[in-house]
Amino acid sequence: THFGYQTVAVEEKQAKVAEVFHSVAAKYDLMNDLMSFGVHRLWKRITIDMSGVRPGNRVLDLAGGTGDLTRKFSKIVGPQGKVILADINSSMLNVGRDRLTDQGYVGNIEYVQANAECLPFEDNSFDVITIAFGLRNVTDKDAALRSMARCLKPGGRLLVLEFSKPTNPLMSKAYDLYSFTALPFMGKVVTNDAESYKYLAESIRMHPDQETLKCMMEEAGLVRCSYHNMTSGVVALHRGIKP
Ligand code: SAM
Repeated sequence: THFGYQTVAVEEKQAKVAEVFHSVAAKYDLMNDLMSFGVHRLWKRITIDMSGVRPGNRVLDLAGGTGDLTRKFSKIVGPQGKVILADINSSMLNVGRDRLTDQGYVGNIEYVQANAECLPFEDNSFDVITIAFGLRNVTDKDAALRSMARCLKPGGRLLVLEFSKPTNPLMSKAYDLYSFTALPFMGKVVTNDAESYKYLAESIRMHPDQETLKCMMEEAGLVRCSYHNMTSGVVALHRGIKP
């Protein structure tokens, strides 16, 4: 049946995403730097700056992986605050926890294995929620956005950092070429896993564009939704507030 088909497709996507991140976890940070020429650090810096996070805040870094944002948040929220790094994938979570612990980031960070679609946190419990390069991997994005909105405190902010639609046709062509040729090639050379990087390129292509994602955030109940294009729209940072 139609529904039978959908169930299989959903399970296949979840299994594929799990396989990809178990496979790339150990080399994830290196690949991020290589693939983005280090620019992901700037995109993340801007995300922190635009989050308005303050000392003492409670922050959820969802799909937080190896913890780049968590580390920055942990410094800002300080000992009175708390950062929860949540990810569905145990391999990514382990790499993140080991890395941050080795670097001395302890005391105000918790690690939780969780699916963005059904977050195991109380209503109205976070000042800031971020999901960086994670939403495109989530099967039911609307459910995930509703779940994030539920967990935000009134006045709390959701920030979605994600690949998006390049605004300039030349950039769009160059980017297509890059993601379907250079990406799988680097994946093959560095991780011996071209397939995972092909999946990543495809998932980027399938992800909703800037305006569509903005509407999805509004439908999830957030207000004052807006986005900020970076690197000619290769990446966009969406922001919304819980009323
Ligand atoms: N946020 C990190 C960063 O920016 O470097 C990691 C991003 S990584 C590309 C995507 C992460 O999303 C992976 O760690 C993956 O396990 C996680 N993920 C995928 N589906 C998820 C879901 N349904 N719920 C929570 N995390 C998920």
